Amino acid sequence: MADNVESGVLKEYEKLKNLFQDYTQINNTISILHNDQQISMSPGSAPDRAEQMGALSKIAHRLINAPEIKDLLEKVEAAPSESFSKEDQRNIKLMRKIVAEQNISEDLSTAISNICNEGWEKHTKLRDAGDWSQMKDWIQHSVDTMREVGRDKKERLGFASAYEALLDTFNTGMKAGHVAQELGKMEKSLPGLIREAAQKQKEEKPPVAFSGTFPKEQQEELCRRVLEAMGFDFNRGRLDFISGHPSSGGTSDDTRLTTFYDEKNFFKALIAAIHEGGHGIYNQTLPREWRYQPAGEPLGMDLHESQSRIMEVQAAMTPEFFEYLEIQARDIFNRPDDPALSAENMRKLRQTVAPSFIRVYADEITYSAHIILRHKLESALIEGTLTAEDLPQAWNDGMKNLLGITPPDHSQGCMQDVHWPSGAIGYFPAYTLGDMGAAQFFAAACKDRPEIRSELKTGNFKPLQEWLEENVHSKGSLLTTEEIFVQATGKKLGADDYLNHLSERYLGKPYTAPVSAPILPQQKTPEIN
Ligand SMILES: [Zn+2]
Repeated sequence: MADNVESGVLKEYEKLKNLFQDYTQINNTISILHNDQQISMSPGSAPDRAEQMGALSKIAHRLINAPEIKDLLEKVEAAPSESFSKEDQRNIKLMRKIVAEQNISEDLSTAISNICNEGWEKHTKLRDAGDWSQMKDWIQHSVDTMREVGRDKKERLGFASAYEALLDTFNTGMKAGHVAQELGKMEKSLPGLIREAAQKQKEEKPPVAFSGTFPKEQQEELCRRVLEAMGFDFNRGRLDFISGHPSSGGTSDDTRLTTFYDEKNFFKALIAAIHEGGHGIYNQTLPREWRYQPAGEPLGMDLHESQSRIMEVQAAMTPEFFEYLEIQARDIFNRPDDPALSAENMRKLRQTVAPSFIRVYADEITYSAHIILRHKLESALIEGTLTAEDLPQAWNDGMKNLLGITPPDHSQGCMQDVHWPSGAIGYFPAYTLGDMGAAQFFAAACKDRPEIRSELKTGNFKPLQEWLEENVHSKGSLLTTEEIFVQATGKKLGADDYLNHLSERYLGKPYTAPVSAPILPQQKTPEIN
């Protein structure tokens, strides 16, 4: 290509990058406004804030759908690939993906935002009473609309199915078949693992429960110390205690974390702070040279969740971490002799296995069972092999099979989550893919840097943090999820390391796959009428 043509294309690419920078900045501003709403805005200001965020969303939508962006993108894509570095080529590919995803008909776009807004409201209003007759039609409406969204995305972007297209919204590049295969492995093994772990714990001395109160200011101090040890940069971020649900948001240089708290149990604030801190550190250490570009953004929710869970359930549930926590907790709460604060006791409290109905309160090992069930049901709903009419029964059957318990009512059953009523179908697998990823990264990191675990005894997260920055955070979206896993761990994201981790932690032995039941000689099955 002639030099002047090449420099023309590079100029066009620069223009495109500037437009994407504006687009990212608008979305970042929405995130900061959202965080401000949670931590400091007065409740009466909510309608005003909704207007502000709505206006910004409209501007972002208009910007990304502007003919100028489409025109520039087409020109840049038409240039020979060697005009751009490998990283720029990846950035251009991601630009196209964002434009294609945002470029949906106005009808569908309105339908999605209606389901999201109305769904949240309906769920908040109806959940506690658990009246399915009032929720059933709405869930079917949400499923039907999201199926249409999935089909539309499938046609335009070439996914294998409508469900895979929806899955991709939250788990970039994840194939539906691969997710089904890995969750299928877990489904086979988990019920046995849970039973064995619960049985083993029954035979042990139970842990001592926390007693008395743990003042809020002291809990704040503990969370701050632990987050600083983890590597969260308070100079470019903050943590607030709120009454609502914990979250992380903001931008790389203004990372906002929130946690809730319970005066009787400091684990509640601490665990959520560690979880959100893992998300926050990922945001803070994304590649600076790609800031505000698609290639510099975090990858999907599955990878994001692996970064929160590697802190929360891998590092911060090791016996070594509890040694560090004991010293900090005794010091901050001034309880030198409280038996509940011994490292071993806190480990036992954190690792108690007990099947329960509500996903968000589930322990580490039973949590995935809740996700396996939701993945099966939501994919069947989108495929149309299950309807909202039959959902409660399918839910209860699944709970019985996976966890051996049946919810007493729908509020503790199929009406507990906000995801389906608000249209977030395809989201749930991100939680367990995140757990699998966390286990896989942690195993690889400990192999590369054997001092990782022993250093946690003194709260030194540096070796782990350095490994994560080098192998995950600094990659942003420059590589695909699969490439990140293969380069960092030598294999694709899968269930094996996670199952091994659960077996080592809860049963004290390496994982062995369950032996299938012996095949009996075929008998003639009587006709069922
Ligand atoms: Zn999370």
